[in-house]
Amino acid sequence: MKDEIIISGLKVFAWHGVYEEEQEKGQNFIINARLALDTSQAGATDSLEDSVDYAKVCLFINDFMRINRFNLIEAVANQMARKIMVRFPMTQSVELEIMKPEAPIPVPFETVSVKIERSWHRTYIATGSNMGDSEDIISNAIANLDADENCRVFKTSKVYRSKPYGGVEQDDYYNSVICLDTLYSPIELLTRLQEEEKEAGRERLVKWGPRTLDLDIIYYDDLIVERDHLRIPHVDMSNRDFVLLPLSEIAPYKRHPILGLNTLELLARLKTSFVYTMKEEE
Ligand code: ADP
Ligand code: MG
Repeated sequence: MKDEIIISGLKVFAWHGVYEEEQEKGQNFIINARLALDTSQAGATDSLEDSVDYAKVCLFINDFMRINRFNLIEAVANQMARKIMVRFPMTQSVELEIMKPEAPIPVPFETVSVKIERSWHRTYIATGSNMGDSEDIISNAIANLDADENCRVFKTSKVYRSKPYGGVEQDDYYNSVICLDTLYSPIELLTRLQEEEKEAGRERLVKWGPRTLDLDIIYYDDLIVERDHLRIPHVDMSNRDFVLLPLSEIAPYKRHPILGLNTLELLARLKTSFVYTMKEEE
């Protein structure tokens, strides 16, 4: 099913452009927008409350275009697409084309434009902490993420508690997994999570000592990222029962895009290999 609300040829006079003259005098922009959303509810109830009001979207685009000043229509499109999804929460993705038919180009042309698509992404984040009020720290971080307009916490697992092994004197570990829908790119999300880790660390500096919160990206849609400082799926997740167990609670059948196994299968595999290792050591 692919339902869309389509807005074509919306005309807005605004002030975006690299040149001073464009920022001072302004010019006409033409906008095409496609909003993907599930219209089946509205189709059944015949009520505007169950859909996105396209008149409001048009006014929102008009206001956004006129209130802000950008050099590039790339930036206008990127920011406006996200704001549309925040402002109209039923919208799952937005395709935007911004045309600049009066752009200062010294040869005849019809129009120039930038066209982008942005959408919500479903991610799974593992949380971990091992200090006195770990449960507070974890629920605080989740609340902060949920308060970020670019994020929506969709599901949270219970918080699992485990005794640290290895003989080092330290507090119990607390772990959970959250399902987070986000407008951030993978790198932006990593940065955002690191801010949250720092925030929790700062609190702890005053009271107890160094950083106490670990937030790891487990999955980001079915995307595979292999960069120096970011690897998705998280490289060690399939070896960590404290990730797989909470994950199995909220996403038992979610499939690992590289290994091809779902959470329950990964968990079963981990248990088997654990027993095997133990036997080997004997
Ligand atoms: P760990 O989470 O493995 O216990 P750290 O949180 O200290 O250890 O590791 C942090 C580093 O791991 C970060 O600098 C980050 O760049 C890198 N990293 C790589 N992949 C991921 C991921 N999927 N999620 C979070 N951090 C990641
Ligand atoms: Mg980490």
